[in-house]
Amino acid sequence: MVAAFGSGAQRTPRQLVEATPRICRANVRKALPKSPVEVAGLPPGAVVRASVGVRVGDVEQRIEVVYQPIMRGRWRIYLICGECCERRHALFWHLGALACYRCHNLTYQCRTTRNRLPFRVAKLRRKIGAPPSLLVPLPRKPPHWRPDYYRRMVRELAVLEAALAIRLHDTVRAVRRRRPKHDRHSHRAT
Ligand SMILES: [Zn+2]
Repeated sequence: MVAAFGSGAQRTPRQLVEATPRICRANVRKALPKSPVEVAGLPPGAVVRASVGVRVGDVEQRIEVVYQPIMRGRWRIYLICGECCERRHALFWHLGALACYRCHNLTYQCRTTRNRLPFRVAKLRRKIGAPPSLLVPLPRKPPHWRPDYYRRMVRELAVLEAALAIRLHDTVRAVRRRRPKHDRHSHRAT
C-alpha cells in the first residue's frame, strides 16, 4: 500500500529561539558599571572571568561572564553557558534553566521551513532598507555605507530574487498541471 502524501511521521517541533526569553550581552552590560573594577588596569586582549547576578522573572540567577578589555579603556563582555562553558552572545531561559541555544536545542524560525529563499530575500531587503515587495525599486545607498558594500548587497539580492521568481513561476505551473482538466478550463464553460 502506498502511503498518502503528508502521512509520514510528524517531527516534534523544536522550541524556537524567537519564542524563548533571553538574556543577551547588551542586557547584562547595561546593568553593570561603566568602568567595572574587574577591567581596571588590564591590557587589551586580557580575559577576566567574573560572575554577575541577573533576575529572570522572580528568580535570581548568577551567570559567569568574561570581560575582555579592548582599546582605550573600552571592554566587551561575553556570557558563559553553564552547560557547555562556551562564550555566548545570549543565554536562554527554557525548562527552568539558563543555557545557550545549542544546549537547549533551540532552532530559528527561518530554519523550520525547507524553503528559506523568501526569508533570505526579505532579510536582505530589510537590511538595504527596501520595502518587502519584490518589484518595488531599491532605495539609494545609505550615506554611511561603503559603495562596494552596497553594490555587493544589491547584486546578491538580484541573484536571490531571480531565483525566487523562477521558483514562483515553476510553482504556479506545477499547481496548474495538478488541477483536473475540466477545472483548468472551467471559466470557458460558464
Ligand atoms: Zn551551551
